[in-house]
Amino acid sequence: MRKNIVAGNWKMNNDLAATKTLISELIELNKTSDAEVMIAPTFVNLMEASKLLRETSIRVASQNMHYAESGAFTGEVSAKMLKVIGVNTVILGHSERREYFYEDDLILKQKVDKALQESMEIIFCFGEQLDDRNSDHHFKVVERQIKNALFHLPSSSWKSVVLAYEPVWAIGTGQTASPEQAQEMHAYIRKLVGERYDITTSEKVSILYGGSVKPENAEEIFGKLDVDGGLIGGAALDAKSFMAIINSF
Ligand code: PEP
Repeated sequence: MRKNIVAGNWKMNNDLAATKTLISELIELNKTSDAEVMIAPTFVNLMEASKLLRETSIRVASQNMHYAESGAFTGEVSAKMLKVIGVNTVILGHSERREYFYEDDLILKQKVDKALQESMEIIFCFGEQLDDRNSDHHFKVVERQIKNALFHLPSSSWKSVVLAYEPVWAIGTGQTASPEQAQEMHAYIRKLVGERYDITTSEKVSILYGGSVKPENAEEIFGKLDVDGGLIGGAALDAKSFMAIINSF
């Protein structure tokens, strides 16, 4: 049985006061749900978020981390630093990291390895650009991103990997992939994992969809066979919207 997961990526939003407010609203509204719930505030607010959510079922994830153990990497944060403050999950490979901070498959592979070495859970993001889809290259692009960063892993590592398919053209644009497009890609990804590893691994890995998920479209997207939840950007910044998405299972 796969885990259903809804993770909120807050990106570079919410200062400390706003972080506290949104978290207390989430605690207030949070009911038992079929989905595992996570939020990913910005680095400086992770510690406060982790403290405030310690006694709850909502988990805290980081939006990024560096692959080195420590050292001369100005402005960076290590896996160990995250773990010390109770953050055991990290989002890697978000399209904004790939686009604005030039994170390529090789860098991401190193981050994946470091996170797993530190026994962290990974939410690994990937997805095609609009041009890739329009030229019918979306399957190839997604296959390359997954293979290059993840397919060197032993099957035992996959219990700590969550996949997040996020077509870049759907992120923050209001233009979501149709439930059929999401299902088609998720089934393709699961098949790839099954071919590289085995059916047990492919059936166990949760594959989230991300890209303009809202309360209005979540139920239909999450209802698809191979969609095991969502990575939510904009709609995660509003407690009611985020909870409505969580309750769409
Ligand atoms: C994201 O940034 O991961 C995302 C899916 O954003 P949005 O929901 O705003 O499209």
